[in-house]
Amino acid sequence: MEIHVSQIPPEGLLLREHIPCAHLDLATEVVKIHKPLMVAAQVTRITNAVTVDLEVGAALIMTCSRCLTEFENGITRSFRLNYQVEKQDQVIDLDPDIREEILLEYPINPLCNPGCKGLCLVCGKNLNDGPCSCKMKKR
Ligand SMILES: [Zn+2]
Ligand SMILES: [Zn+2]
Repeated sequence: MEIHVSQIPPEGLLLREHIPCAHLDLATEVVKIHKPLMVAAQVTRITNAVTVDLEVGAALIMTCSRCLTEFENGITRSFRLNYQVEKQDQVIDLDPDIREEILLEYPINPLCNPGCKGLCLVCGKNLNDGPCSCKMKKR
């Protein structure tokens, strides 16, 4: 998402954009994004200061750290960015800052749900689907 400083009217500017996730390089080992990010930006400018109030929505695909199942988790984040403008024809690229803010939302150990039972250490079965035969043998 780019803002052309010369195109910000005195009353401000509201921008809505879908940013392709590949564009932002947001994939990590545990989190992927498969839909474009939805971004709404309220842009205001007072002389050389540009303030952008952003609301970003993203559908994250996370891999559960216990059972390795992929699950979708939607996040929304509101934040404000401030830029100093030196030239009137300047173009502000918001993408690097949007990327940073989204990365802050990534959990270190995602869980499909707080009570996830994980995988059996012996047979590898997903214990959320029911007990495995290892447990049956013990009985
Ligand atoms: Zn899980
Ligand atoms: Zn087992």
